Amino acid sequence: MKLKIISLVRKNIQELIPYQSARKIGGKGDVWLNANESPISDQFTLQETYFNRYPEPQPKSLIMRYADYVKVSSSNILVTRGADEGIELLMRAFCEPKIDSIIYCPPTYDMYVINANIFGVKVRSVPMLQNWQLDVKSIEKKSLGVKLIYICSPNNPTGNIIHSQDIRFILQVFSNTALVIVDEAYIEFCENKSVVSWLQDYPNLVILRTLSKAFALAGLRCGFVLANTEIIRVLSTVIAPYPLPTPVTDIAYQALSKKNIGIMKNRVLELYSNKVWLIKELKKNKYVKEIFKSDSNYILVRFINADKIFLFLWEQGIIVRNQNLKIYLNECIRISVGNFNECLKLINVLKLFVTDSKG
Ligand SMILES: *Cc1c(COP(=O)(O)O)cnc(C)c1O
Repeated sequence: MKLKIISLVRKNIQELIPYQSARKIGGKGDVWLNANESPISDQFTLQETYFNRYPEPQPKSLIMRYADYVKVSSSNILVTRGADEGIELLMRAFCEPKIDSIIYCPPTYDMYVINANIFGVKVRSVPMLQNWQLDVKSIEKKSLGVKLIYICSPNNPTGNIIHSQDIRFILQVFSNTALVIVDEAYIEFCENKSVVSWLQDYPNLVILRTLSKAFALAGLRCGFVLANTEIIRVLSTVIAPYPLPTPVTDIAYQALSKKNIGIMKNRVLELYSNKVWLIKELKKNKYVKEIFKSDSNYILVRFINADKIFLFLWEQGIIVRNQNLKIYLNECIRISVGNFNECLKLINVLKLFVTDSKG
């Protein structure tokens, strides 16, 4: 009898609904506004030219530059293959499959739950309140068996920053029982809102960072976990032996020079002014029902007839992210802020949709 490979696969993996990355969904567009990437890129040249040796497991010079940038000690930093790897390492190290739980607060980034499903870790879902803030009372009530609480701030896809007093409250409630992970993938777009200065006060605080968004290096796959030294040490025991390819460290190091941090900050300002313009123009469109407040480089918009608008934009080569099927996000589309021409094109094409459907 022929072996049925599928029957060998772990049951939870057989049933897994994998992450629908923007890239997998695809499209033939020339305006990409669906993955919150930077529309503007810097150019880099590799300084390193020999690759016969394994890389440093945790490259010291890179960590020192990042430590300087975030103003924490280098012993509080782990470099990872994107923030996504940080999400996963925490579960790998802290969660007993089928026994421990994570708390996640939808609508939010899907990877927290997808990783839990992969590891067979239980998920306690505590939906956001109507204002997209944490339901702290329900989180407190659901504390049994919880090891990790994932909080995304600014939250993807809603765009808002999470109230710092709520994060503080959760840190205190769970101070002896669980880690509170604050995913700050977009924090450069609202820099003074970071909770990084709290690391000394809360040994159960973990912060995730990335070079994929404001630093315009999504293709590099480089992220950071910031936490107390004990957590960093534990995570470094479960990460792959040589997680960071030599070229990645090389370019990440360059990206964190004083000059390049300055360039990043200017890019953030440019995207901010594009965002302000985009919001102003979207407000004039009669198919726009609601624009949620954005502290980030993307805007969540509730349309009238989001599916049709998504498809219409898609056909015109503008790829945005349809959120219509997600909890609480009916008729919502997430739009990454592009360069000015991309914003202009989006607005102009949306105007055509208006005239189209009138006729
Ligand atoms: C994009 C994103 C990540 C992933 O970042 P990488 O460093 O590219 O893995 C993590 N969290 C959130 C909320 C994101 O939007």
